[in-house]
Amino acid sequence: MRITVSAALDSGNIRVLGIDDDRVTLEISPDRQSDFYQWFHFRVLGARGRRLTYEIVNAGGAAFPGGWTDYRACWSTDGATWRRVADTSYADGTLRFAHEAAGDEVRFAYFAPYSTERHLALVARAAASPGVTLETLGRTLDGREIECLTLGEGPLSVWFFCRQHPGETMAEWWADGALTVLTDPDHAIARSLRRKATFRIVPNMNPDGSARGHLRTNAAGVNLNREWHAPSDDRSPEVKAVLAAMDATGVDFAIDAHGDETIPYVFIAGFEGIPSLTERQTRLYRAYSDALVRRTPDFQSKHGYPSSQPGKGNLSMATNQVAERFGAVAMTLEMPFKDNDDLPDPDFGWSPGRSMRLAEACLAALHDVIGEF
Ligand code: ZN
Repeated sequence: MRITVSAALDSGNIRVLGIDDDRVTLEISPDRQSDFYQWFHFRVLGARGRRLTYEIVNAGGAAFPGGWTDYRACWSTDGATWRRVADTSYADGTLRFAHEAAGDEVRFAYFAPYSTERHLALVARAAASPGVTLETLGRTLDGREIECLTLGEGPLSVWFFCRQHPGETMAEWWADGALTVLTDPDHAIARSLRRKATFRIVPNMNPDGSARGHLRTNAAGVNLNREWHAPSDDRSPEVKAVLAAMDATGVDFAIDAHGDETIPYVFIAGFEGIPSLTERQTRLYRAYSDALVRRTPDFQSKHGYPSSQPGKGNLSMATNQVAERFGAVAMTLEMPFKDNDDLPDPDFGWSPGRSMRLAEACLAALHDVIGEF
């Protein structure tokens, strides 16, 4: 049977350079109007029973080439369960993985996709839960809504906003986990949190980049997490919409959920460099980090990004802008594309399920420290 490779699907991204016997030569396309690329997602038909080698020959020019070291590609036969390709390697600028398909179709992706359809189903499911309000904060350049779900009655203003970088799909898996817990009427921590806080959750801040198969930017090729100092209608309406809603509600606690290509751990990054940093913000941030360490062995506080120098924080980034603007305790939550090396899983690596469970731990840790706010 003839082998075909196609990226014509939601969040699809690959260019076929050639199919030669058992070798498939591929390239990742850059984000539109941008040089960033690393996300790939494609389907292969006609490979049943054949061991094919896939070679992404422009991997060396990707946004984070260090992301390919010890990385294993994700594969699925049904688009639901994504396992890792054990035989993945990176050398001389080429990412290579070899896989034998058991059936007629197999898909490969940089990480388990979170599709537009799944996003719409998540929003609808959450909105149908008692006490949840769904609204759109604004529109993207491609005309998609920036949905926000509000729940809880408490005085603390909590914002979770996810997937500014569209290829970091684990961020929306995390949002799914957070909404699943918070809308569970039998979950004691969720019930208690909803009394103490009001949650506003934006599961996907970059639906255009998500559908387009981008790594890092929106439909205009703009990195949304460098726009928070001055968002605009023509470059970053997504940020402008969310920030305007935050201005209306204020923010006490915020998590900006991401994935990190290179570092094989879950970690958070804070706001040490903001001009108006207070001792209270620092104390609460550390208390939260310590609580999350206690809540899950999938989180740690040893590995991560270096801290900013005092006063040198980049206010174009969400975490710094939100901490500075609102005096909030804000953080960038980074989950790995690879795995948590403290607790590795050879079959799945870091996964949708672990991202969702991490969200549950993040909520439990917030509950642990919420009395200190
Ligand atoms: Zn990111």
